[in-house]
Amino acid sequence: MKKSDDRLLFLPLGGSGEIGMNLNLYAHKGKWLMVDCGMSFADDHFPGVDLVFPDPTFIEREKDQLLGLVVTHGHEDHIGAIPHLWRRFECPIYATPFTAALITDKLAEAGLLDEVQLHIVEHDGPFELGPFTITYLALAHSTAEGHGLVIETGKGTIFHTGDWKLDPNPLIGPICPSSKLEALGDKGILAMVGDSTNVFNPKNAGSELSVRESLIEICKGRSGRIVLTTFASNVARLDTAGEVAKATGRHIVLLGRSMQRITKAAKATGYLKNFPKVLDEEDASHIPRNKLLILCTGCQGENRAALARIARNDHKHLTLAADDTVIFSSKIIPGNELVLGQLFNMLASNHIRVITEKDAFVHVSGHPGQADLKDMYSWIRPHIAIPVHGEARHLIAHAALAHTAGIYHTLVPANGDIIEIDREGARKIDEAPVGRMVLDGDQVIPADSPAMGDRRRASQQGFVTASVVLEEDGELAAEPRLAVLGLPTNNPDIFYDQLLDACEIAMDRMKPKQRLNDDSVEEVVRIALRRLCRSTLGKNPGVAVLISRLEDEQY
Ligand SMILES: [Zn+2]
Ligand SMILES: [Zn+2]
Repeated sequence: MKKSDDRLLFLPLGGSGEIGMNLNLYAHKGKWLMVDCGMSFADDHFPGVDLVFPDPTFIEREKDQLLGLVVTHGHEDHIGAIPHLWRRFECPIYATPFTAALITDKLAEAGLLDEVQLHIVEHDGPFELGPFTITYLALAHSTAEGHGLVIETGKGTIFHTGDWKLDPNPLIGPICPSSKLEALGDKGILAMVGDSTNVFNPKNAGSELSVRESLIEICKGRSGRIVLTTFASNVARLDTAGEVAKATGRHIVLLGRSMQRITKAAKATGYLKNFPKVLDEEDASHIPRNKLLILCTGCQGENRAALARIARNDHKHLTLAADDTVIFSSKIIPGNELVLGQLFNMLASNHIRVITEKDAFVHVSGHPGQADLKDMYSWIRPHIAIPVHGEARHLIAHAALAHTAGIYHTLVPANGDIIEIDREGARKIDEAPVGRMVLDGDQVIPADSPAMGDRRRASQQGFVTASVVLEEDGELAAEPRLAVLGLPTNNPDIFYDQLLDACEIAMDRMKPKQRLNDDSVEEVVRIALRRLCRSTLGKNPGVAVLISRLEDEQY
């Protein structure tokens, strides 16, 4: 893109077609601006992998023209990829104080703190990055410092909403800034690029204050320990846990690394000012059971998180017993029902009461429902609506809602679509390369790399390794050696002999000339072993064949 290029472009590399790993780019006058750089959690498709990122190859190639990464807020789907991908595009980062504190932690852990220019934006006035003038606009969300971005360009103004909700009493964050949003609408917004997560909720998101009141009522007069689990990033909910402890005469203890990390960042940036004194884990174990509130991570049933550990009696100091209560003050995220169901059953069979959002009012979302979206469109009145932060079904429903709210031009983007935005509307003009990266061990590799395919095959089908030693003329110098991993054999010795026979018969059938070529031998043996596994076990394992060939002087 040339400096003289007056077009205004939008390009999502992640987050359009999925909920997670948001990475959005804007371009104008030859310069690029990145908004957010998030991650997703891996599913069973990537065995052995926890984190997934968008592929930044496109912006890596354009990095000389990349002015900065502006971060809307500190959720992992907006900042989680920064420490893993930053080296690929190396640009300054802009964030508000709480978000910056979370990013700083991540950069320090990755050893990048000295290299990254992290600018903390403490004011709500505009700042300039080349042809973009950017203003943070505070919005309520399920973490502290949710923000939309007003991005002014010579071609018109974008309102990039980030994640948001309207909350008459969010406890942390602005109370429904309708007049500010209306004033923004009055100035004229070319396009609103916004959150689609909860478009299927016909109502509004609901208020944090009402959750606080409800949780206090639920916890009053309870016997036994109370465990409250939520996303650690939900600072208002953590504050509520502190208020519940105070209102019910309980001491509080925090379990889980992210709970400690986020409360530290929140306190350092001026939040949780009235939070009660936190007990250490050992002291907490000596407090009478009906005087303790445990605030912990693991609300999605994560196996290694604090809640799952205390539930299976795997914590050094704290245990649960009959008559205790576990409150899941969180959404049950689709896909996690099975693992959560197992955790609910484990707790129930120990006579521990479980309360989830299905049983009582213990959670509100941080994303706009239809009522909130309609209000937002009535205030902002953008010329164009571009839904992001959603799966295809969310984006399509959001575009339809925008249309009924009187927004004539809508466009549903997909990751990699290069979209031109002007007064005529928004249209796809080109495609950028897109893909996914995974963090495997401590290496970031493409999600479609052979390593992932091999891992998937080995984990689902098992693995056979054969070592074949040949004399120089191609005869077998010794009986092949085999290693079998993860195959369903009732009699391993017999199966081993069958594999060995298959290997030797395949070798016998080869022409002497063929046997002089290592690649041919490898291929023939692999096919023979795999065929045997298929016919005798119904499995199609990965097969590795190692060929060694003795040289003349060795015998
Ligand atoms: Zn968020
Ligand atoms: Zn998000």
